[in-house]
Order: sequence, then structure tokens, then C-alpha cells
Amino acid sequence: MARPKKTESARETAAAQAAADQAARIGSFFTEAASAKEPARQEAALRPPSFDDFTGQPRTVDRLRVMTGAARREGRALDHILLHGPPGLGKTTLALILAAEMGVKVKITSGPVIEKASDLAGLLTGLEEGEILFIDEIHRISKTVEEFLYSAMEDFRIDIMIDQGPNARSVRLNLPRFTLVGATTRTGLLTAPMRSRFTLQTRLDYYDHDQLFKIVRRNCALLDLPIDDAGAMEIARRSRGTPRIVNNLLRFTRDFALERADGRVTRTVAAEALSLLEIDANGLDEMDKRILSVMAHLYAGGPVGLGTIAVAAGEDEHTLEEVHEPYLIQEGYLKRTPQGRVLTERGWEIAGPAAKPRAGQRELF
Ligand code: ADP
Repeated sequence: MARPKKTESARETAAAQAAADQAARIGSFFTEAASAKEPARQEAALRPPSFDDFTGQPRTVDRLRVMTGAARREGRALDHILLHGPPGLGKTTLALILAAEMGVKVKITSGPVIEKASDLAGLLTGLEEGEILFIDEIHRISKTVEEFLYSAMEDFRIDIMIDQGPNARSVRLNLPRFTLVGATTRTGLLTAPMRSRFTLQTRLDYYDHDQLFKIVRRNCALLDLPIDDAGAMEIARRSRGTPRIVNNLLRFTRDFALERADGRVTRTVAAEALSLLEIDANGLDEMDKRILSVMAHLYAGGPVGLGTIAVAAGEDEHTLEEVHEPYLIQEGYLKRTPQGRVLTERGWEIAGPAAKPRAGQRELF
């Protein structure tokens, strides 16, 4: 049956609407995925709602305060911002804080979810003036989508193809002035043109023990969990410099305190709870230790390639590179050399100094 003929502009509106509907679906899909991933309500309760509640990352916070202050003063949308750093350090939290500071809405999505240009068009046309679009894992966005994002970010318009065959033509969609906040664990994977479209690129670093201590204290108050300073420091020290890990360890420690103690978290209770999770006094988890052990026992301390370590340790190479390696390097357990990864003295201490080849013996490997 022949479809009723639509006028040109009605067709374009319909195309834009279809794309917008699709975006709404992407949005809700993502919200569901996020809530399945973590106990969403508790997580939301612990997320710092403003810069004043956000501990650490002083340089990044300072830069963001400058940008939000100026944008608010001039009544305009915030410029595009790229946040990079390992998972769990507060990139999503900062995007939400930016929206709160600017008094605008935020849409959250993720690079791999935006498969086609029409997905992106739908997302963008559904935005309001000044709204923040947060794209997590932006390095995983496809090449074709990335090209569309350029003009969206720079000129606030997007040209998409509608229809196929002889009817195919390009339609220009004008977009509201939105703010893109991109997050990535691997800035090296972003193309130079992509990176250059962000006014600010700022890196989040691992938190030090005092900052984590403050976060533990704050979260215990929010969770109504009695804890003493020594207990809080024990959790801070073993959280791998990462607030998300603080939250997870805290929840487990709370359960442990209820089941195996009187509900209060002391240093001993925290240490016992965390040793049950096989997290050692340095905060290294099972996989960290396995990596060091593989390097020591199978490869004589290196140099060895990351892919080889990943296979031997039974872990995905990307996870190794994004989650484990940065922390092990920062804490001085291993280092990168042009030939591959090498264990340091500190790494040998954890992996078992007895396995270390003596001078002259190394050639055997
Ligand atoms: P990312 O997006 O970098 O993976 P998130 O922003 O989702 O990390 O942070 C994970 C959790 O860690 C948040 O739910 C929040 O509770 C906590 N968190 C992150 N940064 C901070 C901080 N600076 N202070 C307190 N809690 C934080």
C-alpha cells in the first residue's frame, strides 16, 4: 500500500522526531543499565551533590568553578569539557555537579550505546538550551558518529542523511547550545580533532589517604555507621585511591561489623573485613597481586608485554590497562619500559623476593 505523501518539512520533522524517540529509548536503556550495575539509591545518596561536598581533585575543581562561574555570570551555556582518569574517581559525579551548579538538566549516555549518526541526532535534538550531555567512555564512540559530533560541538548543527536510494538527502538540524561533558579512561584513544573540540581537558588523579579518609568519614555519617578514626584510615588506605572502592569496602565492612562485631567499625574490624575480601594492607586486590606474581614467577620480573600478562593472569587486557596498571605504576610496583612492563623492588617485595633472579641468572630467562 502506498504511504501517504508527506510534505518535505513534515518528513524532516518526522525524521527528527523518530531520532528523538530513539534517543529517549537510549536514555532509558542506559538508566536501567546503570541501576542494575550498582545499588542505585545508596549510590546516589553517597554522591557529593556540589563542589563544596566534593573532596579532592583541587585543580580540576578549581578549573570547573572558574568555567561555571563565568558561564553563569554571562548567562550562557558551559563550554565542552573532557574529564579523563581511571574509573571510579568522580567523572560522572562531576558532570552531575556541573549540571547542578549551572541549574540545567543532564542526560547521561555512553559511547558504545550511540551506534549510528541517527542515535546521536536523536540525543542532540532532544536537548534543551544549556543542557549537559554526558557521554561516558567517549573513546568508544564509532568513527562515523564522531565526525557528526564535531559539527554538533562546534557549530551546534548536524547534517544527517534521511531516506535511502534516490530519495536520500541531507537534512540540517539546528541544535540548542548544549554542553558536552565527555569522560574517558583512555585519553590516548581519542583522536586529536576530537580532543581539540573540548575547551577544557582535565585529568582526575588517584586520591591520597587523607582525602579518602575524609570521604570515608562523610559516607559513614550519611550511612549512619559508627566508625573511629583508626577504622576510617584503615579503609582509606586500602581503597586503591578510588572513592568508588571506598563505597564498596564501606558497605561490606558495615555488614561485617553487624555480623561479626557490635556494629561499630574499629581498626581491627575493618582489617578483618578487608582481609576476608583478600585486600591486603596496601590496598592491592587479588588481581593486582596476581599480576605481580605472574610477572615475577613466569617472566622473571619482565620486561613482558601487557597482552602476555593479561593472558597469564586471566584478565581482559583493557581492564588491566585501565584499572590495574595505572595504580600499580603510581604506587611504584611496576614500571613501563619500551621493552615491556618490569617489576620494581617494591613489586618484588609483594610477589615474593625469593623468586627474584640473582645477577647473572637473568640471562637464563
Ligand atoms: P567515574 O564516573 O569516574 O567512574 P563516579 O563519578 O561514578 O566515577 O564515582 C563513583 C562513586 O564514588 C560516586 O558514586 C561517589 O559516591 C563517589 N565519589 C567519587 N568522587 C568522589 C569525591 N570526590 N568525594 C566523595 N565521593 C566521591
